[in-house]
Amino acid sequence: MTKTALITGITGQDGYYLSHLLLGKGYRVVGLVPPERQSSVAKLDDLAEQVEIYSVNLTSAEALTQAVEQLQPAEIYNLAAPSFVPASWDDPLGTLDLITGTATRLLSATRLLGLPTRFYQASSSEIFGEVRSAPQTAETPFRPKNPYGAAKLHAHWTMVHHRDRYGLFACSGILYNHESPRRPPQFVTRKIALAAAAIKLGLRDRLSIGNLEAKRDWGFAGDHVEAMWRMLQADTAEDYVIGTGVLHTVRNLVETAFSCVDLDWQKYVETDPTLVREDEHFQLVADPTKAKNNLHWEPQVSFEQLIETMVKTDIERLKAGAVAAMGAS
Ligand code: GDP
Repeated sequence: MTKTALITGITGQDGYYLSHLLLGKGYRVVGLVPPERQSSVAKLDDLAEQVEIYSVNLTSAEALTQAVEQLQPAEIYNLAAPSFVPASWDDPLGTLDLITGTATRLLSATRLLGLPTRFYQASSSEIFGEVRSAPQTAETPFRPKNPYGAAKLHAHWTMVHHRDRYGLFACSGILYNHESPRRPPQFVTRKIALAAAAIKLGLRDRLSIGNLEAKRDWGFAGDHVEAMWRMLQADTAEDYVIGTGVLHTVRNLVETAFSCVDLDWQKYVETDPTLVREDEHFQLVADPTKAKNNLHWEPQVSFEQLIETMVKTDIERLKAGAVAAMGAS
């Protein structure tokens, strides 16, 4: 029998890669997209025709319950969230409602309907925040430092409560930074890839960047969504940190991107103090041992391959006029 997977946040980067994975496995894939965001369905490109989109207000418990009742999904992937972390300071309450509210409403619907649905909650390394040890596991204490991280942590605990109290098969994937050519240009990987491509093509001549020494655990989004799926196929519902376990600096990122197009980055990159974030001395890096042992999950795409693919994709897009040479700063 065809399994139905229900996805919130389907029009984002992870929604695309997850839909691709699930369609390839024969799932019926249904995305819940708020009425005011219907135009973003076009971002699914080639997949837009292969998935079903339901127009549903994620802030309505009634609408979400109806959708779950009608679809009887085997699996729910709750990915909906504003993606850019610093923006959560501008709208803490909206961030909380979208992230925590949607998780709570979907979990309640599943429980009240008595369905055997398996539930994936998209958690984030932002819940660790001010870490005092590295690398992190799912047992590391949580000290979120921004409204996004706090909302993700609340959603995480709500999921845990539903698992412990009501026996739902629910789990959190605590994902570290995961990138792809589909990353919006305000993120540093895509910002750098796009700039390297545009400079190579002579469309611009400078890149302003923040802290070159900031470090992140950057992986490929396509690898990370595979871990989401594997979590829901496991015998027991457990939480996992998902990352590569390797830290790179922004400096490494710039060097790698510019060397893909045979350019010396130092000729083009300048640092802009206004782009430097405060409090960035924490080392957010995953210990993915549990995912390797239990889920047999390992990243397949290296940091270098990821950055090269991003730069080359942006070169093609720029040549086709499909993207503006200046990304967000
Ligand atoms: P985040 O980890 O979700 O905040 O993802 P980002 O891609 O926005 O930032 C990753 C890291 O790159 C952070 O440590 C930033 O401080 C650092 N960084 C350095 N320069 C820049 C920049 O110009 N733009 C962005 N977005 N991040 C930068």
